[in-house]
Amino acid sequence: MSGRDSQGPADDALRAVKGMNDILPPDSAKWNYVEKRARATFENHGYREVRTPVVEYTPLFVRSIGDTTDVVEKEMYTFTDRDQRSLTLRPEGTAGAARAFLEHSVHVKEPVTRWYYSGPMFRHERAQKGRYRQFYQMGVEAYGVAEPTVDAEQIAMLMTLFGDLGITGLETAVNNVGGPADRPRFRDALVAYFTPRAGELCPDCQRRLTTNPLRILDCKVEGCKALVAGAPSILDFLSDGSRAHFDGLRRALDALDVRYVVEPRLVRGLDYYTGTVYEVRATGGELGSQNTLCGGGRYDAMVGELGGPATPAVGFAFGMERLVMTLPGDAEGFEIPADVFFAAHGEPARLYCLKRAAELRARGFRAELEHRAASMKAQLKRADRLKARVVVVVGESELSSQQVVLRDMKAGEQRSIPADDLVPELKKLLR
Ligand code: ATP
Ligand code: MG
Repeated sequence: MSGRDSQGPADDALRAVKGMNDILPPDSAKWNYVEKRARATFENHGYREVRTPVVEYTPLFVRSIGDTTDVVEKEMYTFTDRDQRSLTLRPEGTAGAARAFLEHSVHVKEPVTRWYYSGPMFRHERAQKGRYRQFYQMGVEAYGVAEPTVDAEQIAMLMTLFGDLGITGLETAVNNVGGPADRPRFRDALVAYFTPRAGELCPDCQRRLTTNPLRILDCKVEGCKALVAGAPSILDFLSDGSRAHFDGLRRALDALDVRYVVEPRLVRGLDYYTGTVYEVRATGGELGSQNTLCGGGRYDAMVGELGGPATPAVGFAFGMERLVMTLPGDAEGFEIPADVFFAAHGEPARLYCLKRAAELRARGFRAELEHRAASMKAQLKRADRLKARVVVVVGESELSSQQVVLRDMKAGEQRSIPADDLVPELKKLLR
């Protein structure tokens, strides 16, 4: 044991696992805002939520993501449970959704299925800004439609969401990576191109040259990137069917006024993609090379390869951490302050406020009260920190006269009102 590990378990008990983050208020307000907008946008487009477990049997990921991808080769959290079964913390959401789709024979119940999901994913990557070991994704999947208009609709849906969130300076790249019919010829062309240049490839890519040459196109090492720039383009190897699909995608994107660039060397990190692939990137901001917010595309072969009926499918996933980092505005600004803060003096007044606060909440107000015995000054200070719009002050004299003091925190003015008028008076003030 060395370094941090040698400090022993006592220290480990008090820190989060490397690459895994706590999300505290006020940051969580920003997260909630994004999630809420995303859910509304997805549901508005006919997507319904699916929730699947965060662990699956390991072969699901090996078979769907591909055993020569980075994710499967070196990033999965795989362990044997007490039943001696190999389990893996999900590194992404598409495989589990496809498994659930098949296991529940959803294709028998409806010709087209639109699902979205949201939750944590796990990859043992090098932790850095925008790249974590537990990270959150939201994503959508559409099963049963082969037509490229649904691909375009998903991309436009993303643009709508990101636009609504106030995110600007985005770049959308699209490509078509062909299907099983187009791949072998392209693969041969890649091998023919890279083999004489193998000495300039990184060790990983030298290996990929024999195991999975397409993966070289996704390498982030500078030397490899330079070689990739001159590599053959998949677009020259597409079958008529793939080409027509890609043209159809572009016509649909144009019809939806989506701006995009065609990047013939764009591939995604997971092997299951066929046909359409795309990425949405942030061009400004602090993310550096971790600027891909969202990745998506078709995986028409996955459901069939998992043992189900041939089912075309297309989806995307975006990373919440990167999206939240790109979202303009301070986290505090996303918090919703209390409408009303009750400041009570003495126990009878506190019991009265306890009841009135419950009544107001039932009517839809956001109400808080000070439970601790504290001076009026301290209570007002706390109301101020909580950014409460209105403070209701109740003491013994108010109780006996059935009045309450209403303090408008913005105007800094206060007045006594009959306790019975509290609701209408608050409505007026908060309007
Ligand atoms: P990258 O290019 O960053 O490696 P990827 O190709 O592995 O991403 P996908 O598996 O398609 O990406 O995941 C979709 C999105 O999920 C990414 O665009 C990113 O926003 C987010 N994401 C992926 N891996 C991580 C991670 N380790 N930490 C944080 N976010 C991530
Ligand atoms: Mg990755």
